[in-house]
Amino acid sequence: MSYLPTIGLEIHVGLKTRTKMFCACLNDPDEKHPNINVCPVCLGHPGTLPTINKKAVDAVIKLGLALGGKVAADSHFDRKSYFYPDLPKGYQISQHEEPLITGGILKGIRIRRIHLEEDAGRLLHESSSTDSGEPASLVDFNRAGVPLMELVTEPDIKNADEAVAFARELRLIVRYLGISDADMEKGNMRIEANMSLSANQQKGTKVEVKNINSFKAVHSAIRYELERQEEILKKGGKISQETRGWDETKQKTVSQRSKEKTQDYRYFPEPDLPPLDLKEFDIESIKVSILELPEAKRHRFVQEFGFNIGAVETLIENKETADFFEAAASELKSKISNTDYKILYNYFTSDLRGIMNEKGTGIDELKITPEHFAHLAAITEKGELSSRLAKKLLLKMFETGDDPEVLKREEGMDLISNEQALELVVKKIIENNPKPVEDYKKGKEQALQFLIGQVMAKTKGQASPSVVAEVFKKLLK
Ligand code: ADP
Ligand code: ZN
Ligand code: MG
Repeated sequence: MSYLPTIGLEIHVGLKTRTKMFCACLNDPDEKHPNINVCPVCLGHPGTLPTINKKAVDAVIKLGLALGGKVAADSHFDRKSYFYPDLPKGYQISQHEEPLITGGILKGIRIRRIHLEEDAGRLLHESSSTDSGEPASLVDFNRAGVPLMELVTEPDIKNADEAVAFARELRLIVRYLGISDADMEKGNMRIEANMSLSANQQKGTKVEVKNINSFKAVHSAIRYELERQEEILKKGGKISQETRGWDETKQKTVSQRSKEKTQDYRYFPEPDLPPLDLKEFDIESIKVSILELPEAKRHRFVQEFGFNIGAVETLIENKETADFFEAAASELKSKISNTDYKILYNYFTSDLRGIMNEKGTGIDELKITPEHFAHLAAITEKGELSSRLAKKLLLKMFETGDDPEVLKREEGMDLISNEQALELVVKKIIENNPKPVEDYKKGKEQALQFLIGQVMAKTKGQASPSVVAEVFKKLLK
């Protein structure tokens, strides 16, 4: 019997706002000192009142519109009650019945809803953290009350690859929209996968897997869990509906608890907050503020630069990179009308990236401007610089941020293109290489390339290859 997998994702994303969801505390994910960004509201002291952070609502609306979802006419917050030591209030303010966004689609996967809620604090389990050296759990409430959005898909996903592709694209969009860094390592983006196997059109029991902390883990966890379920079913067993966790070290899902039911949470409308009046939000302006999304950019780059879809992926991986390349390409075009963007692409994706990775420099810290970068490509494309010197020049540009035209002169990298100067070197090479010279005279073109290479080596790459070729042809006629 064959089993058909059904997968649905629940993805939490911490939003990048200045302050928390319901109080004026700073939302600073990089704050290292525990329990600094806290106040009576986010610590759940009795008698305090929450207020809604409108910027967080804007952010969720922005994502909803970008995914083609519908913004609710009326929405409100609900209380979701449960106990856990990282939740000082004993309840989470979330949205149950009227999520901000319903519908929408991404990579063919339908989106059920996107709602807004608050994050919990962080627990730190230490084996010896107290003065007496006893094991203890510490709690940091800096993250308590930070705006968190939750996106729930329909169960439209069929395998691990599709799930990862969906999550990756969502991360890219969220970053393009500027609403979150969506960093999985920092717990800024968290993925839960729901999985079931059906047979003979019979819907299977679904299992939810939590604690998945990387895209690689999403893939492994889904593969593992589907296999686990298949094995049980093949043996005639039953899948129990439960929440499992992904154990990264064991590369296994492990049972955590039987699935809680909605009624366990005792949802009810949050009495301390007014219903959300969406008329107060300028949805038109939010719509206008959505710039080109990754998918549109991909296709435009393929069209405009003649690259294949795989090649553009590395250019659009973040907005800053895409903007840099695009600005450089447009500058290059203004210098060389019938330009081939491949040179620019290669310098960008291999040479410049290489230097940036080595020095640990991000695109936003780069001293090289797109214009200067384009000038370098233009100079090499025109044959005014050997590729060896171009690499040297790029490193200088990286350090100083100066224009390659100026640097080239300052560094004495102007190619020797003076025929008379080159004749002396060429004559020497002819003298010392009788065999290749003979070969060339017999019509072997490769021999000429070898001879040119000798001149390039002798001049430390400073000769103009095209002029060298001319001189050889003239002298060996
Ligand atoms: P619950 O009420 O148990 O949380 P939901 O209906 O809210 O279940 O769905 C939660 C997630 O589970 C969604 O992402 C949804 O797509 C997914 N899901 C629903 N039914 C199935 C199923 N039969 N198999 C796998 N995933 C499912
Ligand atoms: Zn606070
Ligand atoms: Mg649910």
